[in-house]
Order: sequence, then C-alpha cells, then structure tokens
Amino acid sequence: MFVDYHMHTPLCGHAQGAMEEYVEEAIRKGLREIAFSDHLPFVHLPADHPWHGRYAMRMEELPGYCEAVLKLRERYPEITIKLGIEADYIPEKEKELEKLLSDYPFDFVLGSIHMIDGWPFDDPSLIDEYANRDIDDLWDRYFALFIAAARSGLFDSMAHPDLIKKFGFFPKANVQIHYEKAAQALAQAQVCLEINSSGLHKPIGEIYPSAAFLRACLARGVAVTIGSDAHKPTEVARDFPKVKELLRETGCREAALFTRRQKTLQPLTF
Ligand SMILES: [Zn+2]
Ligand SMILES: [Zn+2]
Repeated sequence: MFVDYHMHTPLCGHAQGAMEEYVEEAIRKGLREIAFSDHLPFVHLPADHPWHGRYAMRMEELPGYCEAVLKLRERYPEITIKLGIEADYIPEKEKELEKLLSDYPFDFVLGSIHMIDGWPFDDPSLIDEYANRDIDDLWDRYFALFIAAARSGLFDSMAHPDLIKKFGFFPKANVQIHYEKAAQALAQAQVCLEINSSGLHKPIGEIYPSAAFLRACLARGVAVTIGSDAHKPTEVARDFPKVKELLRETGCREAALFTRRQKTLQPLTF
C-alpha cells in the first residue's frame, strides 16, 4: 500500500501529535502519497459552539490549517502531500458547504455522516442514546443521509461508509439493500468509497466498509480511496496489511488519488 488519504491533526480537538510527525511516520512506513483530512468547521453551528474544538477545527483555524499543509509539501519533497478535508454532510446547508469548500485549494474532500438529527452517534460518550432508538430506523436514516451526501456533488469520497455499525448495533432487516442502494448512488455520482482501517480498533472490530458493502460497490465500478483515519502519528497506515487482504479478496485492483479535486486511478501492486 502506498497511500493514506485520511489523517487528522490536533486542530480538531481529539487528535494528537504534530503534523510533521504524521508526515515522518508516513515516510518511515514507505508511503508515497498522503492527504491530511482534518475536520472542517461546522457550517450549521455558530463559531463559538462547543463542538468546534471538540469534533472539528474552528473556522478561524481553517486558513492556518491549509497553509500548514502547503508548507509541509515544500518541506518534505520525498513524499506527495495533498490538502484534504473531512466535511460533515449537513443536508440543509449544501450551499454553505459548497462555498466554504471552494474558498480553499483542496485536493481532496471526504464526506462524512457522524450525526443523525444532531446526535453524534459515533461518540462513545453518547452511546446510551442507542437504547432510546429503533436500530432499523437509525440504519434507514444513516443510509438516506449517506446517499444524499453521495449525490450532493460536494465530496470526492465517502469516509468510513458503514460507520453506523461502529458499536455493533445491527438492524433486524437485511442490510444488503442499504449497500446496494448506496453503491448505486456512488456509481451514478462517480464518488469514491473509502476503505478505512480504523474500524478494526472500534467495538465492531472490522474495516469500514464490510466486504459485502465493498463488493456491491466494486460490482458497479465504484473506485476506492484508502485511509487509516489516524488521530495519532503512530496510526498512519495502521493495519494496511488487513486492508490489502480485503482488497485482494474482493478483487479491487486500483486506488483513487486526487489533485485539486481531479481523480486519477493508480494500480495496486499486490
Ligand atoms: Zn470521520
Ligand atoms: Zn476522520
């Protein structure tokens, strides 16, 4: 594996380590290309909302984040460093998101669903809320948001595509229908699917997406991006041998790279 397109920085408030350390770890692990993809400020919340600095960087930090990535690019010519961002899809704020994303020279924009009606369902400290929810309904709503995000034209790749499985709450209904519909939306919109190894270290203990979801996407010609979702330097490219195994067993032979939002496909050599 030669690429890691998902890594954070301390700006989001829940990651550690200097940006240089992420780059140096990537070089040490033999990667040829990386993208920082820290959390974009929330366009639907006021600047002083407590979620800024907890889940995402503050609006006033965004220009400095972009400059820091561009500086690292000059400082480490031995590795290709892309300016990425991870943006929450906020359905009623598509225009605002589009504007904010166009204000900076991003190479790569990851789209994410971390919230269902204002509840950050992937935050372990808020896990009790699952007891108040109908899990079938939650999965329906997660995938409705995922599909709307894929179709929005705002994103290059959809991050941790089945994040809703994080704590192991599965619906009674067959999940395959969700995978098929999501795959269809990604294929039509020509948006990539992220293979994200961080799920291996969460209660579910499995890569995002599941092999079944990935297969549904590959069958429709959806391209993939690869990311560790590193929140510390040591997590860069974490468990990529397992990612490789999944890609091999599902017959995925290419990974997508992005420059100023333009996709190119690179063969995977294994
Ligand atoms: Zn995320
Ligand atoms: Zn992330």
